[in-house]
Amino acid sequence: MASIIAENGITVVKNVMGNYTLGDTGERDKRLILWETATGRPAVECAHEICHRPATRAAVAVRAFSTDHTHYLYPACETCARRTEMLYVTGPLVPVKD
Ligand SMILES: [Zn+2]
Repeated sequence: MASIIAENGITVVKNVMGNYTLGDTGERDKRLILWETATGRPAVECAHEICHRPATRAAVAVRAFSTDHTHYLYPACETCARRTEMLYVTGPLVPVKD
């Protein structure tokens, strides 16, 4: 079973687009609450390394350059949740359970 990764590190990820609805803009989404529950941390800031906007939702991503195909959640702003390029994100990353 997949577990939380990059507890205090940086991971290269690529967002998984299309499989997940992002919900309404400005609404704190349920997956962000799952991330907070799993990590025991408040999701304050977007996890993208060079972005410091407030986290309003959980983005869904896979690790880049990896055979790990698990989908992971990380806190993101509206913009970064929709990015299609590879991103350096600060962990922890929480596996999606569904
Ligand atoms: Zn961001």
